[in-house]
Amino acid sequence: MASENATDYDYRLVDDETGLKDAISELKGKVAERNTLLAVDCEGDSLSRKGALTIITVATEEKVYIFDVLKLGQLVFTSGLGEILEDESREKLTFDCRQDSDALWHQFKVKLSGVLDLQLLEVIYRRENPTSSTIDTPRFSSTNKRGSLRNRRSQRTDEVEKIYGFGRCIEVYLQDENLTKIKDKGKELLKKDKEVWKKRPLMDDLIQYCIVDTMAMFRLYSKMKDVNGGEQARLRVASEKYVDLYRGKTERSFDDYETNAYLPLDIIPDKGTLDFPAANTKCTRCHRRFPREEFSITQLRKGEQKCRVCKEIKRVEDVQSNRGRATREDDDDSVYIPEGMSDYAWVYGHEPWEDSGDSYDW
Ligand SMILES: [Zn+2]
Repeated sequence: MASENATDYDYRLVDDETGLKDAISELKGKVAERNTLLAVDCEGDSLSRKGALTIITVATEEKVYIFDVLKLGQLVFTSGLGEILEDESREKLTFDCRQDSDALWHQFKVKLSGVLDLQLLEVIYRRENPTSSTIDTPRFSSTNKRGSLRNRRSQRTDEVEKIYGFGRCIEVYLQDENLTKIKDKGKELLKKDKEVWKKRPLMDDLIQYCIVDTMAMFRLYSKMKDVNGGEQARLRVASEKYVDLYRGKTERSFDDYETNAYLPLDIIPDKGTLDFPAANTKCTRCHRRFPREEFSITQLRKGEQKCRVCKEIKRVEDVQSNRGRATREDDDDSVYIPEGMSDYAWVYGHEPWEDSGDSYDW
């Protein structure tokens, strides 16, 4: 089914009221016919509850509908698209739905539901099918550097996983130069002009970009969907949590602790389960709640507890700022140890007493 050229796909640019009515009834017809899977993707400028959402692309495997939200505004959603997006039983493929969902809810009161997020499916797939181009760090090592068991969550730092961008997924899994070329062209335009998604008429290269984005989702899905066999439910649960991750926040921080290249913890349930451990302690950086065990004793005592992802973000920041300082001042006499960390922990990655494998729930 792979197409050599994105232009081979049937698409429709919807930017006036008559076109909107037609497109929605066509789309509803397709959706009602059989259990059609959809792909959904939003574009805009700093897309989030704050930035502008200017385009929403909704596609079936046969046809791509590109809705001009900048021009038609709320009408796009009240004409029936909102209903489709909110319908839990209507499965939608997304790729990192977090910002799209935040924008749709806070700006248009559309609560995106029934999501199957491919960024999460890729993580599940990668765990089962590691390849030379996807191995970053070993997962689930159960011992520390000196060979003792690591029981406490806070010690299992090798469980922190990277998430991939859409471009990388296309490169690694679809290996389709045409798709990559069209994506790169779009990215180039965006680099030159941050507001390119606000310009009208919508450039043809961007139309192609919308088509590629949604069509590639179907291809990624068909490549990876069988990995979780009977565990489709696990992806559903994970996606539901992901879709609400930004949307559900009272306030967003828009910092590195909120948005980064790591899979947030407790988003994908463990294999064979559909729920998460009870969470009662807040991470001081990302403000998400986790079991108390997520945090080291030292940090809990100091009230500076960071989850493993935030710890990693902080570590990278510290390394970078230390490097910067060392080059500037040529001062590598003193080793910089992050606040709240003993020098033992800096060297070994954990406190000495966190070694015994005892549980420290107190
Ligand atoms: Zn955190």
